[in-house]
Amino acid sequence: MDARRTQLWQAMGLGPIYRLRGATTQPSVTSEAARPAIDRAAAIARLDWKELRQEVAGCRACTLCETRKQTVFGVGNANAEWMLIGEAPGAEEDARGEPFVGQAGRLLDNMLASIGMSREGQTPKSVYIANVLKCRPPGNRNPQPEEVAKCEPFLLRQIELVAPALIVVMGRFAAQSLLGTDASIASLRGKPHWINVAGRQIPVVVTYHPAYLLRNLIDKEKSWADLCLARTVHTAD
Ligand code: SF4
Repeated sequence: MDARRTQLWQAMGLGPIYRLRGATTQPSVTSEAARPAIDRAAAIARLDWKELRQEVAGCRACTLCETRKQTVFGVGNANAEWMLIGEAPGAEEDARGEPFVGQAGRLLDNMLASIGMSREGQTPKSVYIANVLKCRPPGNRNPQPEEVAKCEPFLLRQIELVAPALIVVMGRFAAQSLLGTDASIASLRGKPHWINVAGRQIPVVVTYHPAYLLRNLIDKEKSWADLCLARTVHTAD
């Protein structure tokens, strides 16, 4: 993290707000009950891309494995400067095995195109996209805390491997989950937050989920403001 940049953002009234991800998986006092989860997270944290993809594809750590058609791992540039994170696969994603397809996916692609970015290719303008959960919750219900806890090590490892300069988190659930807060999306938007993944601080900009924007066109303007904020925090070049 560049100290001069931090000062600049603070002078602009743009944070920072820090969230240490490591604290939730590394308790200072380790109970026997918590040890298997910590061992599993530590094992996942050592996987390379190929191993991680295989581990997710075969995962049966929570009950969502019983109703999914397939896991939805992630897509895009594995060395992306921008990483986009959503909630969980929907019906179309579950069927196709790719995040953000269908109408919401097209809107996301259009939003990215408006700032010269894309999920395609391997250039600095190519993003990486993943979800908090890799399996579809039945009926698109809200993810349960135990499902998030089981799946979180996969996302954290994806973030560590991509090592993005910026994360754009889409939707209330993903924002609250990643930032470890129950604050409203309205209060989280408009300023960068910070998470620490494996000792690396990463700025996070919160915006609406494209599926929400399809139902609430009036908020598209706000999502444009969020993308402009994201570009202020980090411009891929
Ligand atoms: S949602 Fe995550 S933890 Fe649950 S089965 Fe799927 S990959 Fe495993």
